[in-house]
Amino acid sequence: MQSFYEATVSRPSVHAPFDGRRSVNVCIIGGGLAGLSTALGLAERGVTDVTVLEAQQVGFGASGRNGGFVFGGYSLDCADLLKTLGPVHARELYTLTTDAVDLMRQRIQRYPIDCDATDAGVILANWFDEPARLDAQRRLMRDGFGVDWEPVAASQLASQLKTDRYYGGLFERNAFHFHPLKYVLGVAAAAARAGVRIHEQSPVVRLQRDGAGFVVHTPHGVLDAQHVVMAGGGYARKVYAKVERAVLPIATYVMATEPLGARLSDALDTRAAVYDTRFAFDYYRPLPDTRILWGGRISVRDRAPDTIARLLRRDLLKVYPQLRDVRIEHAWGGLMSYARHKMPQIGRSVDGVWYAVGFGGHGMAPTTVSGELLAAAIAGERPVPDAFATFGLTPTFGALGLAAAQLTYTAMQTRDALAERRRPTRPAS
Ligand SMILES: Cc1cc2nc3c(=O)[nH]c(=O)nc-3n(C[C@H](O)[C@H](O)[C@H](O)COP(=O)(O)OP(=O)(O)OC[C@H]3O[C@@H](n4cnc5c(N)ncnc54)[C@H](O)[C@@H]3O)c2cc1C
Repeated sequence: MQSFYEATVSRPSVHAPFDGRRSVNVCIIGGGLAGLSTALGLAERGVTDVTVLEAQQVGFGASGRNGGFVFGGYSLDCADLLKTLGPVHARELYTLTTDAVDLMRQRIQRYPIDCDATDAGVILANWFDEPARLDAQRRLMRDGFGVDWEPVAASQLASQLKTDRYYGGLFERNAFHFHPLKYVLGVAAAAARAGVRIHEQSPVVRLQRDGAGFVVHTPHGVLDAQHVVMAGGGYARKVYAKVERAVLPIATYVMATEPLGARLSDALDTRAAVYDTRFAFDYYRPLPDTRILWGGRISVRDRAPDTIARLLRRDLLKVYPQLRDVRIEHAWGGLMSYARHKMPQIGRSVDGVWYAVGFGGHGMAPTTVSGELLAAAIAGERPVPDAFATFGLTPTFGALGLAAAQLTYTAMQTRDALAERRRPTRPAS
């Protein structure tokens, strides 16, 4: 079962592997959205001589496999962001992500990138019969971050989502969803047209400091670079320990149903994307060809597509039992990179290596933020905002860290299940 995204793109250009020896200004390691947004940001600022090295193919990692939600915020939730940074800096970092949502819309228009963008907002649906949860979230977003998430009454939500699972919701209007792999390929194409050199099948196997610059080794070539940007997400291994030790690779899963035709509106009568208020939430959205794309769960284990399809189908049927006979045509997983503090790590190490990692499960707008920040810093426009220094390259303790992450996830799932049990049984309709 191939990913729906890979099955529905034609890769217009193959970027040749890197070989030989070349000197460059900037070498970017990783052709995901963090690396490519930096490349495009540099090109847009007139910085020349930029090379991207990608171990596999552009968009091979999380950026080409994700749920396709584009919205404000980070993996660290807004309440914790506020607690950690205080009102001024929390708002500063949050606003960068809503600006990034706008920038992504502009790039889709400007370049132009045909990526099935559906500008219909995102609904946060309340899994729990506790209106206070939504009220608190709404207040937090309005008072702390200056954005209005509009309340959706339970009856109104039930007319859009044909399920009795939810107790009302909040609507984030400034959000959209799209085919992330088409978008990533579009950003790569725009960067390449602007002069960025991209090489696929070119894993960086060694990175060495050399005077004021770096020597970057691939299996068949050597690059001398003044600047190096580490943007290998949850996939980089044995390239630059300082960054790799600071992130945990965590898997998460997605599937797509068969096209549902008119039956789609028996479940979803909205173009918005949806997620819910649990820690281990479901997220899903209608696709233009009437499929439902459904995602959820995290694990430290990679799972086979059949297992992923079975697990996620179970989650789908808990919410939409009317889809019992629907076929699952695609199922796949991807690796996210998580920092212990759950915020992206964006900055420059003591060795002089720029880095943009740790975007977790909320990375479309934040990788665009990191691209803008690193491009502006490398171009000498402005430094990376100080507030990101709070979220440094803290060690994750490898296997121990992974075990702790899995335990936390299970504990939070249990907490949600207990809270759910408290809800009254609905009368049969
Ligand atoms: C299943 C899933 C669903 C998600 N859903 C959403 C969502 O709906 N909305 C949202 O905002 N976020 C979502 N995310 C998170 C988001 O996709 C990521 O945070 C984001 O894509 C991270 O981008 P990146 O560029 O840092 O990493 P990646 O996209 O993983 O890119 C890293 C790249 O580096 C390459 N690489 C690694 N090592 C080397 C090396 N040695 N040499 C050269 N190249 C190397 C890899 O091959 C890879 O292509 C989801 C993630 C997953 C996995």
